[in-house]
Amino acid sequence: MQKILQYILPFKLQGNFSDKALNKLYEEWDKPSRQIQISAISFLTAVLYIVFTFMDKSSWLSEDVQTLMTKVYLLGMVPMMLTISFFASKNRFYKYVMFALALSPIVASICHAYIASKITNYSPFLAEGYLSVFWIFIVSGMTLGYALVSAIISSIILLVSTFYLMNDVGIYTTHVFWIMCSFSFGLLGALIFDRSRKTIFMNQQELHRLVITDPLTGVYNRNQLTKVLPQEIGRGVRYNKSFGLLMIDIDNFKRVNDTFGHDIGDKVLQNTAQVLSTFIRKNDTLIRWGGEEFVVMVLEVDQQSLSQFCEKLREQIEAEDFHLVGNITVSVGATLFKENDSSDSLLERADNALYEAKEKGRNRVIYA
Ligand code: GH3
Ligand code: MG
Ligand code: MG
Repeated sequence: MQKILQYILPFKLQGNFSDKALNKLYEEWDKPSRQIQISAISFLTAVLYIVFTFMDKSSWLSEDVQTLMTKVYLLGMVPMMLTISFFASKNRFYKYVMFALALSPIVASICHAYIASKITNYSPFLAEGYLSVFWIFIVSGMTLGYALVSAIISSIILLVSTFYLMNDVGIYTTHVFWIMCSFSFGLLGALIFDRSRKTIFMNQQELHRLVITDPLTGVYNRNQLTKVLPQEIGRGVRYNKSFGLLMIDIDNFKRVNDTFGHDIGDKVLQNTAQVLSTFIRKNDTLIRWGGEEFVVMVLEVDQQSLSQFCEKLREQIEAEDFHLVGNITVSVGATLFKENDSSDSLLERADNALYEAKEKGRNRVIYA
């Protein structure tokens, strides 16, 4: 199926994500638009049920059945759809909403079968069954798995109930054909829709990765810092926690470029990034600030542990063998987050400390 679809479609299909974390991320990404869809469609469905209830059906429906239909729709289907519509936008209820949404066409099919059994001229009523299968797949906003289960059960109810209702084999065969049409159109549409959503998601993930990644070194770029620094400041204020900010600048890097050429200079930058990223801990963030400057955000530190961390980091770079270039050194400006700090004040303090480290002769750490 996937192969045939891929042959027909002009875009690359994305299958299911094997990675659990990615799947969770996709569900979070997918949720808001589905919530809007479910809420709007359930509301419209309720409105259409009300319209249908009050339509003049006397030419094909007895008064008794009309009363029955009014009761079933106004007391059953309409409140159910309105409840789903109301709770769809509430995050806490999303799982239950999806379940109720998948259940609603099954309930509707049972009602449909029951009402159809009471009607002698049921042909104007049959369309509701076909529409319901299509509604599940394409209109409702259900995810593919739920839609598939819901549509299979609804179709079986429709097929079995009408089997006992329709005495004419020819009519029943045509009826089965129409249900099959709704099912296959619906399923194919839902499958394409599901896969194209996943493709858009993957493309967006890739774009996002590119936006926050420095192409030369593969570590984060400034864009990521403008996101995580305010977050960490917020956490620092809320939980009264401090964190360290380091500004690291390679010493006399211009000389590396001048002596060994720009390509070797690039390699040194890549190696430095690699050494730094291996050195920092899992929750710390390494950013290429620009040129030969890096910023590191160090979490869970106090004054003493920060100074040990910086000193070790400086020694680590100094001890590293950069092949052709030999050894390089870095100067580090370090600071701790203080109450009332903003991103700018923190960066400025670290930058001033770095400037001082350069002034004092390079290859050293200065705290501010
Ligand atoms: P200081 O110790 O004062 O920091 O001296 P420096 O030579 O490291 O500093 P300066 O700011 O004078 O020079 C930085 C050099 O970094 C100049 C620039 O050509 C080089 N540079 C910036 N970005 C890149 C890059 O992406 N690749 C390479 N190869 N060089 C870069
Ligand atoms: Mg510099
Ligand atoms: Mg430099």
